[in-house]
Amino acid sequence: MKPIFSDSPNFILAEGKPAAGAFDRQVLVSGFDQERYSGSTLLFIGAGGLTSAIAPAATRKGIGTEKFLDPDRVEPSNLSRQFFTASDIGQYKPVALVRNLEAVCTAQTRLYGYAISFQQALAEGLNLSCDVALCCVDNNPSRNAVSPYFRARGIPVVFVAVSSDSDHGYVFIQDRQGPCIGCLFPDMATDQRHPCPDTPAISDILQAVGALAIYAIDTLLMGRRRDWNYRTIFLRSGQFDGASTIGQRRGCPLCAHNDAGY
Ligand SMILES: [Zn+2]
Repeated sequence: MKPIFSDSPNFILAEGKPAAGAFDRQVLVSGFDQERYSGSTLLFIGAGGLTSAIAPAATRKGIGTEKFLDPDRVEPSNLSRQFFTASDIGQYKPVALVRNLEAVCTAQTRLYGYAISFQQALAEGLNLSCDVALCCVDNNPSRNAVSPYFRARGIPVVFVAVSSDSDHGYVFIQDRQGPCIGCLFPDMATDQRHPCPDTPAISDILQAVGALAIYAIDTLLMGRRRDWNYRTIFLRSGQFDGASTIGQRRGCPLCAHNDAGY
């Protein structure tokens, strides 16, 4: 990878140390392939609450490489649910996250942190190659940029989101083919809004959807079975919890040009 921000507070590269015996139990799980997992790369778009609910688990499981993109800095309000401590306040999130993840590594995981947005990374020509991308942002313009970029490269994307009242959330898997995030939410393509600062956010719903995303990554990398591509969770009532398989939408504003291809 091109270290465009080397020797600056905007970029960090760290490498974990293997811990003998750390994988003894997880390799007993049906379908789990440690060699495959430890040879795989995850790209996280966003390094906030959603990523904090996913990346520590992937790191402990011995993922091969993780890359993090986020231009934001750690604020005191993040400490209740994100993988930061008080000493990280003021640091760029992806830089602090890599430092904190290094401490929980169980393998020789390579950790890259870039203090830029996904759109800036595209403009800079950053190497965004990965086996699975995680879209852990809080706004639709970024989701709209992420979806077609990885679709065009045949890379699956796990979209993770929680509602603005922190009651519910979803995980949607945009696989190498088939429906994109615009097929699921066609209105998203024209939504240019960014969330207001100070929206509610709490760890419980983040961890609930994060757990599903961690599982979804395994299903994309190895032979763990998954019979859904869209999963919803509501904390207040389980009545609307769901697991379903969304199909491609004809005339989808994001992937319409591919309609005839599937
Ligand atoms: Zn679509």
